[in-house]
Amino acid sequence: MEYSILAESFKKMESTRKRLELTQFLVELFEKTPHEVISKITYLLQGKLRPDFEGIEIGIAEKLAIKAISKSSGIAIKKIEEEYVKGGDLGHAAAIILEQKTQTTFLMENITVERVYETLFKIAKLEGSGSQDMKIKYISSLLNDANPLEASFILKILLGTLRLGVAENTVMDALAIAYSGSKENRKILENAYNVSSDLGKVAETIATKGIEGIEKFQIKLFSPIRPMLADRVKSEKEVIEKMGKEFAIEYKLDGERVQIHIENEKIELFSRSLEKISNYYPDIIEKIPKIIQAENAILEAEIVAINENTGAFLPFQELMHRRRKYKIEKAVSEYPITVNFFDILYCNGKNCTELSYSERRSKLENIVKENEFAKYIPMIKAKNENEIAEFFENSINAGSEGLMLKMLDKPYQAGSRGSHWLKLKREYRNELGDSLDLVVIGGFFGKGRRTGSYGTLLLATYDENTDTFPSICKVGTGFTDESLDQLYQILNPKITIKKNPRINSEMEPEIWFEPELVIEIIASEITLSPIHRAARDEIRKDAGLALRFPKFTGKIRVEKIAEDASTNEEVISLYKGQNKSAHNKNLM
Ligand code: AMP
Repeated sequence: MEYSILAESFKKMESTRKRLELTQFLVELFEKTPHEVISKITYLLQGKLRPDFEGIEIGIAEKLAIKAISKSSGIAIKKIEEEYVKGGDLGHAAAIILEQKTQTTFLMENITVERVYETLFKIAKLEGSGSQDMKIKYISSLLNDANPLEASFILKILLGTLRLGVAENTVMDALAIAYSGSKENRKILENAYNVSSDLGKVAETIATKGIEGIEKFQIKLFSPIRPMLADRVKSEKEVIEKMGKEFAIEYKLDGERVQIHIENEKIELFSRSLEKISNYYPDIIEKIPKIIQAENAILEAEIVAINENTGAFLPFQELMHRRRKYKIEKAVSEYPITVNFFDILYCNGKNCTELSYSERRSKLENIVKENEFAKYIPMIKAKNENEIAEFFENSINAGSEGLMLKMLDKPYQAGSRGSHWLKLKREYRNELGDSLDLVVIGGFFGKGRRTGSYGTLLLATYDENTDTFPSICKVGTGFTDESLDQLYQILNPKITIKKNPRINSEMEPEIWFEPELVIEIIASEITLSPIHRAARDEIRKDAGLALRFPKFTGKIRVEKIAEDASTNEEVISLYKGQNKSAHNKNLM
């Protein structure tokens, strides 16, 4: 397939942020795409080469890209840098530079999507000495044959600055329309995506095998399943109302969720956001295969840091010490953990997600042999508020965050938040101490502060309906020197010159970030706001919701992706709940 078709489509998509228009452009693109390249196109659209869980990073440095542009065009590096500074976008600068060059070139080969993809793949795989020169060679050879528009998108993919604003849901809408004639079939595609986390594979399957192929989509070992999530509740009473009959209660441990894929001696660990995290936990890799009594399995557990002497659970932050590349053995002995199993999704070649909670839990207990290092999460069955309250106290005393409440007769719903699982946390129970997980979208350099940190951050919720990130508050308190440092390191690579089209904010920070990092915030109150965009027009026309006195709790939620952040709906329900309790207080 000619790469120019893709470049033209990218250009159209860049020009809009309306979801319907984007969907239409995608449908038109898919209709022109041969089946052999559909998976590649699907990855490229999202600025990727393979699904995230494979961990293939393309990102090259700007300096290297500039050298490659210079090599291909014969134009001096200085001139290219000037052009870049003028416009602020290297892809665009390359287009202008190459415009000057193409007038003198006669022989150009048409480049194909296949060639661009293969070359990008080779570049991503290169490492070690001499790799920089090889990268320049590969890039300049592509640029030699690219027209200016094509070149600008090649560079944007390479630099990680392609921002079409197409989320997975939009791609699935378009796939459903293009290959089955109806957007209604999106749900079936979503199921396939939820059990594979691989949108390219889903696209290829619907293109080659149609909807029936998608319906038969199977769970595969070592392809992570998107995790099932829980709705929050505020009281024991609300639990009883939502559950209706007997249910399971488990401790909600304050650790890192892990999905363990295991077949004989081979084992891989995926985080909640489906990154491979096996390197951080060599102790799990060594000890878990020995206690699993099955040929293969996919299991879910919470990894929790413990006090070595007393065995007591320690807070989530302690696990951050494991996030290092070097001297991991030292971290393993200094920061011991336990693995606390709570679900099984696949066993001996069979899908278990369709089994009920009760069936899965008993399977789990048959397959995992408990010891000091690996345990089942404590669980009881309950029917009434007193039982919940008592187990809640036990759970808090044991150092956990609260409870998870699960319907006994329901299957595992991959990738979705629903009322089959509920969570009751300590902070949800006081009126306004609720914590929210918010996305960092912008930053301000604080006055009088050390250089090399952002004094204040601009935060957003996630709006599921429009797939955007509306602003909800600025936060400048709760930071320690250590957390400011840590945030600076994490946020720097996420700086963007242009605001990502999925960000919805009237407030202009000094710096925009890619909406990726999630942090935990508490606040004293939720108020109506003329400036912030979260839940705009939902409570009152021309007003959004904002947090009053927001404060960072110290928790950087590395295990969450932006789409896992608190949603507008959650904020609205907190707002309404807060007003109800204020009203009740006034009546007393
Ligand atoms: P939250 O991050 O507040 O949305 O709560 C969901 C998280 O709680 C999951 O992603 C897990 O990491 C964690 N968790 C702790 N205990 C359990 C449990 N018993 N069942 C499911 N998830 C749990």
